[in-house]
Amino acid sequence: MKDIQPNLFPQLSSERPLIIAGPCSAETRDQVLSTARDLKANGVKVFRAGIWKPRTKPGGFEGIGSEGIPWMCEVRKETGMLIGTEVANRAHVEEALDAGFDMLWLGARTSANPFAVQEIADTLAAAKADVTVLVKNPVNPDLELWIGALQRIYNAGIRKLGAIHRGFSTYGKHLYRNMPEWHIPIELRLRYPNLPIICDPSHIGGKRELIAPLSQQAMDMGFDGLIVETHCNPDCAWSDAAQQITPEILNFILGTLVIRNSKQTTESLTLLRQKIDGIDNELLEILAKRMGVSREIGRYKREHRMSVVQAGRYNDVIRSRVKLGEEMGMSSDFLRTVLLAIHDESVRQQIEVINDRNRI
Ligand code: PEP
Ligand code: MN
Repeated sequence: MKDIQPNLFPQLSSERPLIIAGPCSAETRDQVLSTARDLKANGVKVFRAGIWKPRTKPGGFEGIGSEGIPWMCEVRKETGMLIGTEVANRAHVEEALDAGFDMLWLGARTSANPFAVQEIADTLAAAKADVTVLVKNPVNPDLELWIGALQRIYNAGIRKLGAIHRGFSTYGKHLYRNMPEWHIPIELRLRYPNLPIICDPSHIGGKRELIAPLSQQAMDMGFDGLIVETHCNPDCAWSDAAQQITPEILNFILGTLVIRNSKQTTESLTLLRQKIDGIDNELLEILAKRMGVSREIGRYKREHRMSVVQAGRYNDVIRSRVKLGEEMGMSSDFLRTVLLAIHDESVRQQIEVINDRNRI
């Protein structure tokens, strides 16, 4: 992927960060136009809306379908904003190209399916399309699958090509709707330094209050832009209501962002340090998850009147973990220090639960 264009939208000045905003789904003509007008008034130049929506379960709102295309064209005509939507098959690509969409994106469920990606690539190649294409990471944390999807689109002749980091799904409830696993997009950047990467804080966080901190983190890691779900009346959105914000709030958040480096750095050391930062964030998330389980154990022990530390279990845990860690190339002294510190904190958390009946 050597000759990717540095600018995803050459018709726009190459300011950083690039902002793409708009509702999760196009719902009604009024909702689309009113959101677009507010975004335009707040300086946004690229408008997104899902027309065909892949929903996890049947019965959810599956998108307005082709009926929404003229609304998007109206946005383009009236506001001059560029327009983009998600495509998942041949028919979507053909309809969107016919309507003159400036940008298409492949959703996370589509990127995970090479048959679907190839069908889209073939359709783009047959049409000799000169459109911007963004490829979201697949739902599962598989960098090779993400790169494979990007390569299929590149091989179809697309040069205005970029990646969207939207996090990776995982089982159970977490702070994030989709885990950021920042080291994965950073590895992508290390491998393809000229590929623009956009962060999607809406789908990573799944909640409004996480959009600002995630956007700042993305900027700190040198991402090229943000795609943010924005709705004129977020509480009433037909999909992803919890994570959508108004154009005014988006503008406020963008105003708070500290952009440390106006030029994209390709210096390997900086990138490697960013990778370390990402891994450290994950370490903390995993530790917090472990402490959550310790607290659950604390509740169980409280209910069953058991003692906090059971010596046999404790020794087994340390011994088996040290052995595993040594096999991974770490010293036993280091492993003992870390594991004991983790164990101490777990005990402290359990005692807190046992002593405080009202805490959850
Ligand atoms: C979207 O952008 O509305 C969407 C469906 O995203 P994802 O594919 O990341 O779930
Ligand atoms: Mn969405």
